[in-house]
Amino acid sequence: MGNGFVRWGLIGASDIAATRVVPAMRGLGHEVLACVSSSLNHATAYAARNGIPDATDDLAAMLGRDDIDAVYISSTNERHRAQAEAAAGAGKHVLCEKPIAISLEDAHRVVETCSKAGVVLAVNHHLPGAGTHRTIRGLVHRGAIGRVLTVSVRHAVLLPERLRGWRLSDAVGAGVVLDITCHDASVVNPLLGSPAIEAVALSARQGSWDSRSEDVAMSVVRYADDVLVQTHDAFTSPFTPTVLEVHGDEGSVVGTDVMTQDPIGQVLLRDKAGTREIDVPDRRPLYDIVLSAFESAVRGDGTPTATGEDGLRAFAVAAAVLEAAASGRSVPIR
Ligand code: NDP
Repeated sequence: MGNGFVRWGLIGASDIAATRVVPAMRGLGHEVLACVSSSLNHATAYAARNGIPDATDDLAAMLGRDDIDAVYISSTNERHRAQAEAAAGAGKHVLCEKPIAISLEDAHRVVETCSKAGVVLAVNHHLPGAGTHRTIRGLVHRGAIGRVLTVSVRHAVLLPERLRGWRLSDAVGAGVVLDITCHDASVVNPLLGSPAIEAVALSARQGSWDSRSEDVAMSVVRYADDVLVQTHDAFTSPFTPTVLEVHGDEGSVVGTDVMTQDPIGQVLLRDKAGTREIDVPDRRPLYDIVLSAFESAVRGDGTPTATGEDGLRAFAVAAAVLEAAASGRSVPIR
């Protein structure tokens, strides 16, 4: 690695890379050396706009560079699997956007291929590493609310106008469930630390735009030990506060504004002693946390915030919710 910092190649000339991840990489001293797009014109304009020295539409050529340690894959969802496999085949460490793939088989393949290649695989789930979520997990795992009974996640936002493209199309990988419900699962899975068993769900198209995929979804997921988790995910709700509530038989934890991309939000604990705010010691930006953990993992020190297996488990929940909403049936989670 260059001076101990990761030297990156971008696969996908995307909004999230430009607005969040590349600035975070640079803030941590990482270098962004190249970007690949399926369109050379787009890659060239994007590289110029974002101060990236090299732009190409030749993935193999970028992956052949010795000075690139790792790739950040933020293309559209249906391309993640093939790009991650190609990167692992070239010996590059992989930070892949969620969902890790668009089928369980493909998700397993990504995890296995990276493992066999001996490269680090992380999924860019920014929420589980957030200071607020680690504080909430700490309370729950210490038994502060007793036995967990139910969890409620509200992660309903207004999709910004600039992002109203492929997410609202009928392409495989579009829709709010793969976009947001898998983030919910990335939080709930480590919070409960037990397997998700089955999902029921309803979804709808309620935006003022011409959406070909669901833009709102509500689900109930049963985890082991009969813990019930409800989610409300939307692209259509401009003023809805995001919330994670965890209810136990001895107390409740309520995290408000915690399902966001920024290091904000408040954690309240409510039990027989009353209601009090719990201090959140780590307010580092969420993508910095993911990238720092990734850098350490590449050095052989620790594991990513969300490993490939974590990304696979989060995807499995979202995939079941999607199938449940489409079929109207309860879907087992594999
Ligand atoms: P974008 O729509 O910005 O980019 C996705 C792809 O669309 C690009 O890789 C590019 O393809 C193509 N594209 C975009 N703009 C143009 C253009 N002007 N001309 C030609 N092609 C274009 O997607 P997002 O940044 O919103 O999402 C990318 C990925 O990141 C998704 O997997 C999404 O789920 C994930 N994401 C994750 C977030 C998180 O917090 N972890 C937040 C937001 C998104 P090409 O690759 O060929 O250049």
